[in-house]
Amino acid sequence: EEMTENGKVWLVTGASSGFGRAIAEAAVTAGDTVIGTARRTEALADLLAAYPDRVEAISLDVTDGGRIDAVTADVLARYGRVDVLVNNAGRTQVGAFEETTDRELRDLFELHVFGPARLTRALLPQMRERGSGSVVNISSFGGQLSFAGFSAYSATKAALEQLSEGLADEVAPFGIKVLIVEPGAFRTNLFGQGAAYFSEEHPAYAEKVGATRKLVQDGDGTQPGDPAKAARAIRLALDAENTPLRLALGGDAVDFL
Ligand code: NDP
Repeated sequence: EEMTENGKVWLVTGASSGFGRAIAEAAVTAGDTVIGTARRTEALADLLAAYPDRVEAISLDVTDGGRIDAVTADVLARYGRVDVLVNNAGRTQVGAFEETTDRELRDLFELHVFGPARLTRALLPQMRERGSGSVVNISSFGGQLSFAGFSAYSATKAALEQLSEGLADEVAPFGIKVLIVEPGAFRTNLFGQGAAYFSEEHPAYAEKVGATRKLVQDGDGTQPGDPAKAARAIRLALDAENTPLRLALGGDAVDFL
């Protein structure tokens, strides 16, 4: 078995921006092959042009289960394996618990929990049969704590973390690593008006939820963390002999709060 990630095949969700893009770049510049997936695959055109032999961009909305099955089957048929699955696609959501609808909550669970679970189920059997592979699940500091306006977001990330923890124990005997990444505040498009979703503010919660909303909006583009550094840290953690279960990145969580 290879001692480093060199020459491996990565499948990254949400590879069009932020962490996903940085993780894809780090992998391809180190000599690996990257299947970058996102809804906006055109955002990967430059990486595709720079590394035509080792980058592929595939359109994938991770809330579309049928599409997940089709994409993973196609990738396995053509590449024979995926060594590293990175469940990264996500979005932020700020809103009072009382005004969060079933629909909004379900949609966020589809994106942060059911999509990653389905991708993992699809790619796990070949990892188990080969006796190697890694599943990287991008959670958040919000997977361990929550506060006004963040209940739905944190609930989905906490669910992702517990799925990951149980999975890690199950698949360790097969040489498969599961890495939960908990970033603090990083400079990505997550907090941008376009990418972010904010439910309407309930007047009774305007003060507390409004404060979180303001923090998130004001933070757009000014977060301390560099996603390229996060990508390097993830790579180091995966290459380590004793990969940790959780990787908390950046001491920024407290500043953000
Ligand atoms: P960005 O907004 O920069 O990137 C989000 C990515 O997710 C985009 O590539 C987007 O691609 C993709 N995405 C969103 N919805 C879907 C969907 N339905 N199907 C497929 N892809 C989708 O933000 P980040 O890089 O910050 O976010 C990546 C992860 O990091 C998220 O899970 C987020 O929760 C987590 N995180 C980020 C923190 C930060 O400080 N930035 C802190 C803690 C956690 P497209 O629109 O093309 O589909």
